[in-house]
Amino acid sequence: MTGEIVDRFADIRVLRYEVPGFESLPLRRKMLLYCLSEAALWGRDIFWHQNGHESLIVRRVMECLYCYQVQRSKVDSRLEKYIKLIWFANGIYHHYSNDKFPVDFDLKTFERWVQEVPADVFLSKVGKTQFEIIERFKPVLFDSSFQSKKVNLKEGEDLVVTSAVNFYRNVTQAEVEKLYSADGNGRNPLNSQVKKTDSGEIIERVWKIGGMYDAAIEKIVYWLERAEEWADGDQVDVIKLLVNYYRSGDLKDFDKFNIKWVQQKDSPVDFINGFIEVYNDPLGLKATWESIVEIVDEAASSQIELISKNAQWFEDHSPVDVKWRKPKVTGVSMNVINAVMLGGDCYPATPIGVNLPNADWIREQYGSKSISLANITKAHHEASRSAGVLQEFAASEEEIERQEKYGQLSDDLHTQLHECLGHGSGQMANGVTLDDLKAYGSTIEEARADLYALYFMADDKMQEIGVAPSKDVAWAHYDAYLRGGLLVQMARIEEGKDIEEAHMRNRQMICKWTMERAEQSGAASIFERDGKHYVRISDYEEMRRLFGEMLREVQRIKSEGDYEAAKNMVETYGVKTDKALHKEVRERYASLNVAPFSGFVNPRMELVKKDGNIVDVVMSYDESYVQQMLRYSKEYAV
Ligand code: ZN
Repeated sequence: MTGEIVDRFADIRVLRYEVPGFESLPLRRKMLLYCLSEAALWGRDIFWHQNGHESLIVRRVMECLYCYQVQRSKVDSRLEKYIKLIWFANGIYHHYSNDKFPVDFDLKTFERWVQEVPADVFLSKVGKTQFEIIERFKPVLFDSSFQSKKVNLKEGEDLVVTSAVNFYRNVTQAEVEKLYSADGNGRNPLNSQVKKTDSGEIIERVWKIGGMYDAAIEKIVYWLERAEEWADGDQVDVIKLLVNYYRSGDLKDFDKFNIKWVQQKDSPVDFINGFIEVYNDPLGLKATWESIVEIVDEAASSQIELISKNAQWFEDHSPVDVKWRKPKVTGVSMNVINAVMLGGDCYPATPIGVNLPNADWIREQYGSKSISLANITKAHHEASRSAGVLQEFAASEEEIERQEKYGQLSDDLHTQLHECLGHGSGQMANGVTLDDLKAYGSTIEEARADLYALYFMADDKMQEIGVAPSKDVAWAHYDAYLRGGLLVQMARIEEGKDIEEAHMRNRQMICKWTMERAEQSGAASIFERDGKHYVRISDYEEMRRLFGEMLREVQRIKSEGDYEAAKNMVETYGVKTDKALHKEVRERYASLNVAPFSGFVNPRMELVKKDGNIVDVVMSYDESYVQQMLRYSKEYAV
């Protein structure tokens, strides 16, 4: 059932994942997972609220309309498509392109839908009259220029004013930069909204108990405290520290939590829960709320230990300048886990690997924890195998064969090297932080980790330590990486649009930067056959050398905080697409009729009680996408 396609609409497919072995866990562990899962689900509306000022109210109104139409058995397909889209994006902006979703219906139709529903439904569920809803929604739904972009990264524009993301209210980029450029002590750049009050004062509204998002955080804390009762050893303290931080909102407490969390490595159950990733902030300061609850896959994890055990060897043999290598790599760990519950920014679209914490100084002193999500990766693979993308874009039969043989292994290996070694490698010059690269920081950091993986996957060390049977694993991956970064990923970008998302910018940037050099030496080329373009590598070792050369430069940029070089590299190679090629890729991809984006429904967990006592937790896998979204909106609304 893992990889089953549960729903399919627009450019999206929704898959199911399973949690192998859950049934046979002891009750104590099941209860811990249950409580952490509740804490994961209660943050949903925080993330919705962060995703634009209008997102939550749009969801509530659309759900009223949708449920009413379902009751009457006359659901309008245009409404259904729209509501499925916003559910998936946790808001009214596409989760990848950040563009506001256009609607297929007009204002008159919308007014009719609203007026069909009894007025008291809106009053009780949304707290607004029909008239108020229609007036408020006119610009939101029908004026494409109104708050049109969630995250705007366009150089030269006021990124704060032109981004609809709900981290800033009535302030300009200059005002925010001023606020955080002065003495940063006592401020909460990561976990607050910056707002200008009516009297013109600029304040931070901190996300904590008693602060902004109080109601949802109360629930998260409640379930974390229940989880504490079922946790063992150090994990009890880890959870306590997280609760402390949610109470104080003080980032020093968040550091304390992260330091304890990153050192707590032996528990079979682990979790991510908090305001963590900054990709949705055009300035890279504010974090979206997210959660993953996970259980370790013991067998797979022991294989990865072979990599992490050799972390120092990799660092010593890295192609980066010796002064930016880390003299002593500490605490690099990597766990293969199975996801048990996804929440906030990790649901329904979810990463396949995570490396935390993000604070560079904690990573340098205490190391970092990496996870690779085995059941999620497996679901992606199962769902993609039959799609035909490889056959369409691969340059030769040989390439297809090698990819089918080693694709899963090389993907796993890439994630492991990227998360476990890549992000944890290198060191900064004194006083430099990733924030110095501003909007380009995320892309540069992802490139650094990808290049580390690309470079070392082709090292003899892989065969020596026994994680890859031959170099063909790396060569299969080089084909796949260039095919993806130069061709296939453009299918996800609308024609005429630039690449915005950091991971995608990073992939194209690496491919174009190395390709420019490889084409000169003849190591690789883009060629045309029957009107279609393909990528061919003829000298794989030379490609590896180029990945190493680029890694050296990218590490220098990060270590020195060289903003101009970061900007130049990202803007030159990562942002613009080749228009004709972009069009061709989209047409070829469209002819395959596969959805370029995937996400997941969660399993459903329920307590089994007997005579008032909890005797078991059962997990079921039969909920549809629509059922799950409506249930979450009802059960986890604050
Ligand atoms: Zn990464």
